[in-house]
Amino acid sequence: MIDALPPAVALVAAAAFGALIGSFLNVCIYRLPLGKSIVWPASACPHCNRELFWYENIPIASYVALRGRCRTCAGPISIRYPLIEALTAAMFALAWWYYGPGLLLVSRLVFGCALLVLFAIDLEHHLLPNAITLPGIIVGFAFSVFTEPGWLASLIGILVGGGILFLVAEAYYRVRREEGLGMGDVKMLAMVGAFVGWQLTLLTLMLASFSGTIIGLALIITKRGGMKYALPFGTFIALGAAAAATVGPAVLRWYLGLL
Ligand SMILES: [Zn+2]
Repeated sequence: MIDALPPAVALVAAAAFGALIGSFLNVCIYRLPLGKSIVWPASACPHCNRELFWYENIPIASYVALRGRCRTCAGPISIRYPLIEALTAAMFALAWWYYGPGLLLVSRLVFGCALLVLFAIDLEHHLLPNAITLPGIIVGFAFSVFTEPGWLASLIGILVGGGILFLVAEAYYRVRREEGLGMGDVKMLAMVGAFVGWQLTLLTLMLASFSGTIIGLALIITKRGGMKYALPFGTFIALGAAAAATVGPAVLRWYLGLL
């Protein structure tokens, strides 16, 4: 199979496969917040509803060839489409190189795809769909029975990840009488726990809170948003989890070495 190919060819194949998956992730990102089916009907122009031909659906290449416009109505095609396709392609190639073939690679790629979809939807709609987070918890736990971090660390990860954010959300609500953190964030961090285990989930939460605070302060200082500007925390959880799942173990070893 793919691991029998020369390394450079395997990387290109992984990237090409990733671009195709990215094309599907775009469908999820566009349709899930609208409550539409992700399997039916075929992709169409959001402006004139004309169904796309197969050659208008080639990842990245079609966007470039069409110069970002629909051939029928000249309506603009969001730059999000080629961006997500390129990101997914890069993620597949990097993960292939970093993890090597095996079940951990598959687990991390499924996890990465879920994070990418949640990141994009939360950024635009301030929403983390149950259709991703709830199956994500189950799938993450199922992978963990057979590969890292093991079923026990995964189970504790689900309880710790979901539990901490649930308590924070409850405390915030009782003090401020308004919702600061949504239950979507709670379920998303439980999903992170299922895939990477409780240690890396705590690291994810630290990274997400830290980067969220920095960006939040920057927005306040530059007066782009007041204290109550609702920053979508899920986007920071996604970034933190991506870092934790890749360089996290090295960071933890370094940190424990300091103690
Ligand atoms: Zn159109």
